[in-house]
Amino acid sequence: MRNATPIDRLVGIPYRGRFAPSPTGPLHFGSLVAAVGSYLDARANRGEWWLRIEDIDEPRTVPGAADTILRTLEGFGFAWDGTVVTQSRRVDLYHAALVRLQLDGEVFPCACSRREIDGATTGRSVDGGAVYPGSCRNGLAAGKAARAWRLRVPDSEVGFVDRVQGKLGQNLEREVGDFVLLRADGQFAYQLAVVVDDALQGVNAVVRGADLLCSTPRQIWLQQRLGFPSPSYAHLPVATNIAGEKLSKQTRAKAVDPADGVGVLCAALDFLGQKLPDGMRGVPLAEFWPLAISIWSLSEVPALRGRVYTEKAATTIC
Ligand code: GLU
Repeated sequence: MRNATPIDRLVGIPYRGRFAPSPTGPLHFGSLVAAVGSYLDARANRGEWWLRIEDIDEPRTVPGAADTILRTLEGFGFAWDGTVVTQSRRVDLYHAALVRLQLDGEVFPCACSRREIDGATTGRSVDGGAVYPGSCRNGLAAGKAARAWRLRVPDSEVGFVDRVQGKLGQNLEREVGDFVLLRADGQFAYQLAVVVDDALQGVNAVVRGADLLCSTPRQIWLQQRLGFPSPSYAHLPVATNIAGEKLSKQTRAKAVDPADGVGVLCAALDFLGQKLPDGMRGVPLAEFWPLAISIWSLSEVPALRGRVYTEKAATTIC
C-alpha cells in the first residue's frame, strides 16, 4: 500500500467526477471496474458523478448499446447526477473549439494518408501507431488537399501526477507527434471531445482505465491551448484476459448482468485492491453502496496498468 496522501481525499475541492462509456457494446467487467472506481471516488469525496455517452466515433457506435449500458448501471444501483450527456448532440461545441484553435494558429490542415505517415515516420507512438513526422506542419504541399486537422505539440515534456500511477510525462513531439482533432472522415476525434466536455461540464476529477494514461499528456496540452483547467487524474488498472488483452468487445468480453448482484460488484472492488469486510458479498444491493463508499481507499488501488481478471480470481500480472 502507498502512504495516504492529501490527493487520496480531495479535501476542500467541490468534486465533480464522471463515467464516460463508449457505446460499442454492453457493459463488461472492465468497464464496470471504471464505473465502480469513479463512482466510489466521487461519493467518498462527497462529490458529484455524471454520465456521458461517448458516441462521437460513429463507425464504432452500436445502436441500442447506450440504453443497455444505462439500464445495466441502474440495475447495479448506480445513482448519477444531472442528465446524461451524449457527445453526438454536442458537435457544435467541438466545432467551436476547433475554430478557436484555428484562429489562434494552434492547428493545421494535414493532407497525409496513413500510408504516407507510415513511410515518413521516425518511430512508433505511445499508442502503437506512427509518430506524426510533421509533414504538413508548415503548409500543404502543392496540389494536396486537407484531409484532417492536427494540433501542434511541443518538443518538451508534458507531465502530471496521477493519483494512482504517480508521476508521468511524455515528450509529445517525439512520442506522439501533432495529433488529429478533426479526422479525415469528418468526425471529431476523441481527444478533442473529451477535453471540451470535461471542461464545459466542470469535471475536475477524472477516474478511468489506465489504457487512457498515454492520452492524458495530449489532453493536458489541449486543455492548456484552450485555456481550460486540468482535472486531477486517477488511472485504474484495466482488466485483461489471460493473454494480457484488455477486456473489450474485440476480445469477446462477457456482458455483466445486474442479476449477478453484489457478487460482481465485490469482484470489481477486490480487483481494485479494496479490503472487503466479512460478509460483504452477502449484503443486499441497498446496503452494498453505503458500505462500499465507507471502505473506499484510492491508496489501496494497485499502481498497475493491467491485471488479469478471470471470473474465479483477480490475479496480478505485472
Ligand atoms: N469513452 C472512453 C472509453 O469508453 C473513456 C474516455 C474517458 O474516460 O476519458 O474507453
